[in-house]
Order: sequence, then structure tokens, then C-alpha cells
Amino acid sequence: MADIQSVGIIGAGQMGSGIAHVMALAGYDVTLHDVSENAIKASLELVEGNLGRQLAKSKITEDEMKAAIGRIRPAPKMTQLTDCDIVIEAATENIELKKAIFRQLSEVLDPGGIIATNTSSISITALAAVTDRPDRFIGLHFMNPVPVMKLVEVIRGIATSEQTFQVAKTITERLGKTMAVSEDYPAFIVNRILMPMINEAIYCLYEGVGTVEAIDTGMKLGANHPMGPLQLADFIGLDTCLSIMQVLYDGLADSKYRPCPLLVKYTEAGWLGKKSGRGFYDYKGDVPVPTR
Ligand code: NAD
Repeated sequence: MADIQSVGIIGAGQMGSGIAHVMALAGYDVTLHDVSENAIKASLELVEGNLGRQLAKSKITEDEMKAAIGRIRPAPKMTQLTDCDIVIEAATENIELKKAIFRQLSEVLDPGGIIATNTSSISITALAAVTDRPDRFIGLHFMNPVPVMKLVEVIRGIATSEQTFQVAKTITERLGKTMAVSEDYPAFIVNRILMPMINEAIYCLYEGVGTVEAIDTGMKLGANHPMGPLQLADFIGLDTCLSIMQVLYDGLADSKYRPCPLLVKYTEAGWLGKKSGRGFYDYKGDVPVPTR
């Protein structure tokens, strides 16, 4: 299988931006696509700002920063991904939306191109099945924020070939990240364990066991977590948390995965966490303020 040099990214949100950042810094040519041109523009600004922060901390040089920025090409049309060696999908966590993307991508991507998804929870096998190349389809689950977090969870669908797995392994190594291999079950390893804890924290708030501040302080100082579970939920995005809980609940058919009604309510209100300016905290001021 040919060496990977050009990487397409679909979805220029929090995760797509982070993936573009680390890929460009590692020397890959990145083509960044989103349905929203504003999202692509905001993503390029975010990547530049984050690279600037790394430069200020002397983690990278000015030449490395300039070269990385120069390697990211904005692509308002999906057809601009045709020549990519691999395309990594990082669009909204919704199975029907992702399936529609993969059907369209199968038509535009060269037959040799590999497809990866950054889904947090959805069956890799189900997504691969709508493409024309289930053997060249794999789960590459980056963690947020991508430039900081060392892990990439790698998930093979039932049809994923060994060659495709080796390509995923090589990319992970070139990025200087560590791989954890998960079987293709709902939410894989990290979110199967993490998300029920976050959901339980939201139940604690919903049932009045504690305030936002008490719950987060309790878990930070009591369990030595770097971030409280409600702060982490805001950071991930409450829409994404809800989607993951729904995949766990539907996929494992166990009531212990029932999404907390308060999580549903916040998502319905568009209070999606940090990315929308309000979630369990309000982010309008300099310091996040608990909303309950
Ligand atoms: P986000 O809401 O920040 O970004 C999603 C982006 O997808 C938006 O820019 C949106 O415009 C774009 N999009 C929507 N429909 C599209 C389409 N049809 N074609 C192209 N682009 C489209 O979400 P995010 O947090 O970046 O999450 C993206 C993916 O990464 C999800 O699958 C999520 O589960 C996964 N993920 C998220 C985290 C996290 O902590 N947020 C961590 C690991 C994985």
C-alpha cells in the first residue's frame, strides 16, 4: 500500500481542527472540508492561534509553524478530496449524517483512498457498509484537544483489512501518539467507561445531589481528575455526549445507559457547552460561571 502523504478531513469543528493541526505539523498535506465555509475559516484561525501558543511555549519553531499553516488547504467542496490518500471524517456525531457523507465520499474519492472516521461511538462496521470499500475503512478516534492528548483509539470494522490497520498504526506513530486497539462495540473503550460517569454526574445535578461546583470540585479533588465531569461534558459538547449515550443505550439495551433528561433538555435548548458559549457553565466572561 502506497505511503500516506495527503490527508483529507471532513468536518472542521473542534476535532477536525485539532486533527488538521497535528497532521500538518507532522508534515502531511491536509485538505480541510466542511459544509460550512464559516467553519473552515474559523478552523484555520483556531489552528493558527493554537500553533502560535505552541510557538510561544517554544514547543515548535517559527519555521515549523509557517510550514504547517502552508500545508492546510481549505476545501469548500467535497470533490476537492478526490486525490487524498486517506480521508478522516470528523463531522457531527450522527449516524445518518455520517452515512450520507460516506455515500457521497465513495463517489468522489479515488478507489485506492482509505476512509477513517473519528466517531466517538458509532459502529465502524455499519459506517463502512455504506461505502464502496469496507476493507479500506477504519476507526481513528482522536482525543480532545488533539494536539495535547496522546491517545488514538483504533477500531477495526468486521471487514477492515490488515493493510488498512497497518496504515492507521503508521500514522499514529508518525504523529507521536500512542494507540489503544478497541473492538467495534458501542462507544469502544474510552467512551464506554467515561461517558456513563459523565451521565451519572449530570444525574447528580438533575436530582439535586449537588451543585455544578460541588460535583466538579468533588471529582477533581476527590478522584484527582484534572477536570470535573460537568466541565468535561461542556468541553466535549453536550450534543456529542447525548449522541454517545444514545448509542450506548440503543446498542447495549441496558437501562444503566439511559441518557439523563437534563442532558437531553440542555441539548434541546442549544446549550451545547463551550462551543456554543453555554452549557453547565456560562462562558461569556473571562471565567466560566456555573449555571446551576
Ligand atoms: P463540532 O460540532 O465541533 O464539529 C462538527 C463539524 O462538522 C461542524 O463544523 C459542522 O459544520 C460539520 N459538519 C456537519 N455536517 C457536515 C457534513 N455533512 N459535511 C461536512 N461537515 C459537516 O464537533 P466535534 O466535537 O469536532 O466532533 C466531531 C466528531 O468527532 C464527532 O463524531 C465526535 O463524536 C468526535 N469526537 C469528539 C470529541 C470531543 O471531545 N468533542 C472527541 C473525540 C471524537
